[in-house]
Amino acid sequence: MKNYDVIVVGGGMAGAATTYNLSQSGLNVLLLERDNITSGASGRNGGQVIQLDGRDKDTEAMMNRLQYSTRTVDLLKVYKKDLDFDFEFRQIGSIDVAANEVEYQELKELCHLQVQAGDKEIEFLDWKGLHEICPMLGDNFVGARYRWTDGNLSPFALTHGFVEKSIKYGAEVRTHCRVDSVVIESGRVKGVVAGDEKFAADKVVLATSAWTKELVPELQVIPLRSHAALSEAIPEIKGPAFEVVYEGEIIYGSTQFKSGHILLGGGPDRPRTREEQYDYVMSWKDTQKNASILGKLFPKLGDINIFRCWAGTMGTTPDGLPLAGKTSLADGLFVIAGFPNGMAYISYIAKMLSHLIADKSMETDIDLFDPDRFNDLTVEIPEKYNYTILADYLGRL
Ligand SMILES: Cc1cc2nc3c(=O)[nH]c(=O)nc-3n(C[C@H](O)[C@H](O)[C@H](O)COP(=O)(O)OP(=O)(O)OC[C@H]3O[C@@H](n4cnc5c(N)ncnc54)[C@H](O)[C@@H]3O)c2cc1C
Repeated sequence: MKNYDVIVVGGGMAGAATTYNLSQSGLNVLLLERDNITSGASGRNGGQVIQLDGRDKDTEAMMNRLQYSTRTVDLLKVYKKDLDFDFEFRQIGSIDVAANEVEYQELKELCHLQVQAGDKEIEFLDWKGLHEICPMLGDNFVGARYRWTDGNLSPFALTHGFVEKSIKYGAEVRTHCRVDSVVIESGRVKGVVAGDEKFAADKVVLATSAWTKELVPELQVIPLRSHAALSEAIPEIKGPAFEVVYEGEIIYGSTQFKSGHILLGGGPDRPRTREEQYDYVMSWKDTQKNASILGKLFPKLGDINIFRCWAGTMGTTPDGLPLAGKTSLADGLFVIAGFPNGMAYISYIAKMLSHLIADKSMETDIDLFDPDRFNDLTVEIPEKYNYTILADYLGRL
């Protein structure tokens, strides 16, 4: 049986970024993915890089999160040069749009609080300011919170960029290799079992997102289905990526990629059981809704064809922050999972986690993401949770 320094389970962006950093540090790493690289949420998401999502008014919590997302954005600029893939990272900005007067006041107040707390990269836009930077948006949108350093990227290309570079650094990558269990003896990790194969390592990293509980039931990563639609490619429309709580429904996000395709994504409109969160089949209703919302958001675009629709399952946690770090469940067991908005967080957190695993000094600790913080909690789905960050979003599921 071959022995590795570290086995990483899960070939999404979190597992790929961790493998990249560990192999760059000279460790002998094996990455195991049960399907293809990016077959999970990392190949199905909107690619929006939103450093502070949600409308949480706890400024201390916001600034805590922001330190990781701003560092991720800095790192993405470095990766633009270091990785051999163009992952199309463009800082086109983002707007959190107000659809009515109540939201206008809410966002204005929030912006003020954030600026007071030291957030230097946002401003509030009134109707005129909003329609100047995003002229295609419907006239009924009245204002926005604007962050000019946000943007979008191709998650597929970034994840494959990490994997290709990891292989160059000596990592071994196995796809279509599903891990059935983590081998733990006398409280210490010994490796993993995948079908009739065994792989040995003293350290295992679970980057298994919405599927983490299948391997370690104590770890509370909650599956959350979301869906997306892609328009035909059209010439570039002026305007940043945006998020909007549309017509009292849950958050919708949209962005136009470098290729010209406009992406629109959002969540379901009814409670779903845990099993239904893994349903990749798009209903006709979901598809119709995406098309109609796209038309309402950008009425000036006129008729535009929907090119493709799909669903995916992301992982989240009871407080909306990922689990990242060393668990107390076994010596040598690490986790990096549960990112509802990973584009603005994964790269930096994966780098810090890799430093922790490789015993390298860490620029910032990742204690905020302590993977054991929900071990004793029982989460039933569907249920209303006491989310702080994604309260609006998840409370309606
Ligand atoms: C429709 C949709 C739109 C989204 N839009 C955005 C957006 O615009 N911006 C943003 O920041 N985020 C967005 N997200 C969230 C984003 O996709 C996630 O934050 C990110 O992809 C998480 O990466 P990950 O590696 O943790 O998870 P995943 O990409 O899901 O990777 C987990 C991997 O683990 C593998 N795996 C699981 N169990 C096993 C096992 N036992 N053995 C081997 N392999 C296993 C899976 O096959 C999978 O490939 C969106 C998600 C969805 C679904």
